[in-house]
Amino acid sequence: MTRPPADRFHLDAALGYAARGIPVLPLHYPTVRPGRDGTPTIGCSCGDPGCGPVGKHPMTVHGLHDATTSRARIDWWWRRFPHANIGLATGHRFDVLDIDGPDGEHAIAQLSAGQPSDPPGPVVRTGRGGWHFYLAPTGLGNPHPRGLDRVDWRGRGGYVVAPPSRHASGTRYRWVRDLDTPLPQVPAALRERLEPPPVPPRPAMPAIQPGGPGHPYGQRVLELRLAEVATAPKGERNHTLYGAGLRLFSRAAGGVLDRDQGRDRPARRRRALRAPGRGAHPDPRHDRLRREDRQPPSRRRARPRLATP
Ligand SMILES: [Zn+2]
Repeated sequence: MTRPPADRFHLDAALGYAARGIPVLPLHYPTVRPGRDGTPTIGCSCGDPGCGPVGKHPMTVHGLHDATTSRARIDWWWRRFPHANIGLATGHRFDVLDIDGPDGEHAIAQLSAGQPSDPPGPVVRTGRGGWHFYLAPTGLGNPHPRGLDRVDWRGRGGYVVAPPSRHASGTRYRWVRDLDTPLPQVPAALRERLEPPPVPPRPAMPAIQPGGPGHPYGQRVLELRLAEVATAPKGERNHTLYGAGLRLFSRAAGGVLDRDQGRDRPARRRRALRAPGRGAHPDPRHDRLRREDRQPPSRRRARPRLATP
């Protein structure tokens, strides 16, 4: 049985796009239902009463990834949903400059600065009163053209609603110049707004110059760490020494301390312990530390004791 032409309207259009090698996907479509007071209410076929992009979002699970040129697949989709709007994947056969209303037209006219602002290729009048200009694919994604209000770009990873899809306003998208018109290249001034802005050179970071053994900062750090080691209480000395070593080597890696100074930790520690009262470490605990340091390691270690019954 032959289906009524009205039911094939979107199907035939979708098959026509696919025949040109343009991947197609079905989109939800506006619906009209009687409201509570009987007046017709515009909704979306997705059934969500709060749907924002009415008639513009994909019907399939994987959305744009389901776009295809397969006649069988397209036939199956639109025979199930004959009123589904038609989405065309961009970035393959063309990119699209999307100009949304008078503000978008004004922005493009200013960018053109007296030159013809209409790219002389295929163009669609959208259901909302905007324009879709079809241009040769650029390889770009979907960047917002810098400084252009109400203007968008659809390239790789994007799609547009195509004629004869119906807008929520009830108006259909329509071709002003169809796809038989040769695709123009994107104007240079527009392309400049689509490319990523040049990255300004980063100011060079001041390099830390190796200060050598006499670098004041390195020397000060070394003195502080040695003081920590010399004054560490019993039971924390190994831990303190280990931490100080790590910090000193990080300073050596940063170039403010000579590596040999960092390796000289044991000798410096002993010197610090030998002369606690002469200058830098007048701490009374130094005498105790010095006595402990002279004892063999086995006697210095605290021995575990069993509790007395
Ligand atoms: Zn919806």
